[in-house]
Amino acid sequence: MSDNSSARRAGSTRRAFLSTSAVAAAGIPLLADAGSAAASPLAGPRSDAGLRDMLKHVDPRRMEATVRRLVSFGTRHTASSQDDPVRGIGAATNWVYGQLQDIAATSRGAMTVQKQTFIQPVSSRIPVPTTITNVIATMTGAASPQRYYVVTGHLDSRVTDVLDFTSDAPGADDDASGVAVVLELARLFATRPRFPGTLVFATVAGEEQGLYGSAFMAQQMAASGADVQGMFSNDIVGASRAWDGTKPDPHTLRLFVEGIPTAATAAQISLMQSVGGENDGATHQLARFVSQAAPFELTGMNVRVIWRRDRYLRGSDHLSFQQHGYPAARFTEPRENFNHEHQNTQVVDGVQFGDLIDFVDFDYMARVAKVNGAALWSLATAPGTPKNLKIHTTPPGTLSGTNITTLSWDPGPEPDLVGYEVVLRETTAADWTSAVNVGNVTTVDLDIAKDNVQFGIRAVDSAGHRSPVAFPTTVA
Ligand SMILES: [Zn+2]
Repeated sequence: MSDNSSARRAGSTRRAFLSTSAVAAAGIPLLADAGSAAASPLAGPRSDAGLRDMLKHVDPRRMEATVRRLVSFGTRHTASSQDDPVRGIGAATNWVYGQLQDIAATSRGAMTVQKQTFIQPVSSRIPVPTTITNVIATMTGAASPQRYYVVTGHLDSRVTDVLDFTSDAPGADDDASGVAVVLELARLFATRPRFPGTLVFATVAGEEQGLYGSAFMAQQMAASGADVQGMFSNDIVGASRAWDGTKPDPHTLRLFVEGIPTAATAAQISLMQSVGGENDGATHQLARFVSQAAPFELTGMNVRVIWRRDRYLRGSDHLSFQQHGYPAARFTEPRENFNHEHQNTQVVDGVQFGDLIDFVDFDYMARVAKVNGAALWSLATAPGTPKNLKIHTTPPGTLSGTNITTLSWDPGPEPDLVGYEVVLRETTAADWTSAVNVGNVTTVDLDIAKDNVQFGIRAVDSAGHRSPVAFPTTVA
């Protein structure tokens, strides 16, 4: 706890007081009226030695072998053969299932693998009822098994006509690259000691026909009460070349994050409008966490966060998780070449079209795996995001019009949780700029002019791991 804050018991509530002078002493740069001078950079999460070691073992040659094997199935279209042993989505699904079973066998019982199969009814892109199968490897958490972090790539592929299930659809970039990331992460995580939170490595299917596999998976998780605190779709993460093929950008990975949460109710949107919370949905907090957990010096990749749900008029499997209110985001390569996506393999006027293996970059893909690996490791290791954070504008016993603001939240369940930090920033800043330790409390009174800044809370464990930030979702 900071020397400048104090905690005291008030009934059963653990309470701290954060004064303007305490904030000034912490060097918070945003509060000019507190007389502070020095800027205080936000302390980021520590990179564990185990994480650094794991990332050294990301193997681009193994990922290349995965992409080559997936391309060898000819097509992985959702309506292609379910039972041909060498060609089609069924053979590809069986191969992925076998790979993940082999990986789970190295996990000393921590990882289990399931085929999640359902019949998708007829829709505009599903001419007949069609079997769709996700393959899901789950590494159950030791301390907080109901807290989930999910990473996906989609197994299915397509060509120009989304209903053409017979032509070759190599799908090397879209999305064998994402599947290769998922399999590589599963392989590397499986042999590590169990994490506090549960990790899910999944290949989903039916994406090109309407996100059907991920929609079913997310719906099943929501129905079971799974507390998904982070989800990443890796979709088109294999190529570093620019649209014109001339300017490689091999060290940038885009992360698309929604602004107003997709599942927000009218009342929740009204509250965001009222308090200026438009840029503080849970998915934005997830992106801020990723930026800190996966820095360039650890991954060789710059994460370019984009405040947009996806590219214009496009989507991916993160949307399925957003539908249930889960924080979910999409990784994708820096600048797509649309001649290589959703195209028949053909040469037109000397230009090669098609999603061919020649256009993907396995070293780039390996760096994508490192970004995901760093994010998932840090999420599953750190305490969960604080729950039920409320901001009380007129705390009990105070008169209206006070500048005192009270934050309260539910205590986290983690046994190694040692306390909380209040994070702050200017309303116009993209990311949190300051953090103040307030100790192991569940209520803090802030003598800070709340109208001028944004507040959040994050949890800290005994090793210094910080959770993603919770932003107040209730004003009392
Ligand atoms: Zn895709």
